[in-house]
Amino acid sequence: MTSPSVTTPPVFRFAPSPNGELHLGHALSALAAYDAAQKARGRFLLRIEDIDVTRCREEYVEQIFEDLRWLGLAWEMPLLRQSQHFDVYAKAASWLENIGLLYPCFATRTEIAEAAARQPSGFDPDGAPLYPGLHKKMAGAEAWARRQRSEPFALRLDMDRALAAAAGLLNGAALTFTEFDEAGEGTIVAARPERWVDAIIVRKDVPASYHLAVTIDDARQGVTHVTRGMDLFAATDLHRLLQVLLGLPEPKYRHHRLITDAEGRKLAKSAHDTSIRSLREAGLSPSDIRALVQRI
Ligand code: GLU
Repeated sequence: MTSPSVTTPPVFRFAPSPNGELHLGHALSALAAYDAAQKARGRFLLRIEDIDVTRCREEYVEQIFEDLRWLGLAWEMPLLRQSQHFDVYAKAASWLENIGLLYPCFATRTEIAEAAARQPSGFDPDGAPLYPGLHKKMAGAEAWARRQRSEPFALRLDMDRALAAAAGLLNGAALTFTEFDEAGEGTIVAARPERWVDAIIVRKDVPASYHLAVTIDDARQGVTHVTRGMDLFAATDLHRLLQVLLGLPEPKYRHHRLITDAEGRKLAKSAHDTSIRSLREAGLSPSDIRALVQRI
């Protein structure tokens, strides 16, 4: 007798940062991921992305739970809070550093901005001036001495080396990702991580970065479908590169449209009038929010 085949359900997630109130853009992200999970009979996870320990606040975490429960969402427990897993990110970073793909950068923001202004070479997809290479070629002895003196430093990805390493690991195949649409159909997109130049993989203030933590956590939580806003579309290029370098599986991606304000700007967490909480307090119901995010 053959045993019945066991299929693992797809895993979706919503991964907010508790550094402000959730707004309509988050409602769209959360509902898109949740609805897709329901439709696919998949699992739905909530992950709290709170590595930015100075900007994230406990009251916003509570507010996230309250807003999402009110919207009718339920998620698996226990949930993952990134601030409790810095050791995991640090371990992955030191592995990347040991194989020569990260280098320390001691430069301050001002030094970087001044150097970039002297030799402008464009901007990364987030609009920041491309890193002008300042400390890329610093001699090992100097870097070591500065580290011994506990000078703060970030760890940056040596993009040239990282691309070469990835090309080897991919055996000549192109670096791509699959973007799925509402119907679940996938389109192959070419990833261009080089446009991030030497992205910061470990920040100066915390032993992780958004890019590193999100890549590792999507993998270790078995996320198969990443649903998030279009503002993170270009970040996926870097996440795919890190997945290849760290030997992590590749999820599918869906980047949904962004909800903008009357001036066409992305909603800000500080804009209280579009926060889920204030709309609830103004008398809107969860189905009003659903209708609103579908309409705008
Ligand atoms: N934590 C990120 C944010 O709140 C989203 C991360 C993601 O969905 O990949 O903007």
